[in-house]
Amino acid sequence: MARRDRLAAAARAARRRAYAPYSGFRVGAAVRAGGRVFAGANLENASYGLGVCAERNAVAAAVAAGARRLAALAVASATRPPTPPCGACLQVLAEFAGPELPVRLLGAGESRLDTTLGELLPRAFSKRYL
Ligand code: ZN
Repeated sequence: MARRDRLAAAARAARRRAYAPYSGFRVGAAVRAGGRVFAGANLENASYGLGVCAERNAVAAAVAAGARRLAALAVASATRPPTPPCGACLQVLAEFAGPELPVRLLGAGESRLDTTLGELLPRAFSKRYL
């Protein structure tokens, strides 16, 4: 299986494990970092504002394992067109990846979009502005 296919499969598997009892909006994400794949699913809470997106949970798993540089991201949803990361997740991704980060968005059926972090978040805020 090609690396991008493995990343997509990890995102889809994480989506199946999403904890989304309130919205029913299940999302899985997977990042490749340091040659390994780290997955995350969205995690909702009865206190709605505490929910955390799949993308940020995947990044947290990578960072917790010692990875600091993301090489690729896949996000799996069931929408058409596929759901992109939210603004908060794009900002967190920009902390650990450059604009060239390949992003594969997977949606319902064969719905798919290949893009980059830079296309999704042009002119990202970063430490260079601090
Ligand atoms: Zn998000």
